[in-house]
Amino acid sequence: MRIGKKVEGLFEQITLNTQKQKLSSSFADFALYASHDPDSKALERLSKICRDTGIKPVDLLYELKTNGRELFTDGEIEPFDLFDFMQKLSVNKSITEGMCPDQFTQQAQCKQCGPIWFNRYEQLTECPWCARRLKKESIPRPSTVQCGECKNFSRTKHPFLGHCLVGEPEAPAGLVDSDNRYCEYFEANKDWLALMEKV
Ligand code: SF4
Ligand SMILES: [Zn+2]
Repeated sequence: MRIGKKVEGLFEQITLNTQKQKLSSSFADFALYASHDPDSKALERLSKICRDTGIKPVDLLYELKTNGRELFTDGEIEPFDLFDFMQKLSVNKSITEGMCPDQFTQQAQCKQCGPIWFNRYEQLTECPWCARRLKKESIPRPSTVQCGECKNFSRTKHPFLGHCLVGEPEAPAGLVDSDNRYCEYFEANKDWLALMEKV
């Protein structure tokens, strides 16, 4: 029994030592990689630029590289359009979180999402908010909408009442098709499109 415990202890020690060696060699490999990888220097600089912006340096680096922007071999970044890339990432981040980006100060119309916040007034066939609509996620609204112009409105036999198919709060009798509401789950139907085409 005692021999068994000793063997067990010895085995544990050998395993621990092997793990430590593996770990220390992994760290050494990483340090070697980092010292030879121009991206690591670029990331170091980008992390200073991204500080307090909520933008991840790896995302900015990815964006720069996939758009063919040169990173000098010593890790310097070409500054001329860095700001535009940061703006784009900041907008994407806000939209992903369901927040209106600071840059979106105008009301626009998306043929599928309805009234949306955008950086200029425009009628769009698709918009930056469409991805959220497709996932049935909320979209902040610059103006009110009516249930009667929404794909999620299911009419009852009553002339102007119906129910919301995505579970928005409603009275026991249902929703009135012409009531104005700031609904974040609105999806434009044919009536809304017809109305938009007259604008
Ligand atoms: S999603 Fe909003 S606008 Fe559409 S039916 Fe439901 S409550 Fe009305
Ligand atoms: Zn849209």
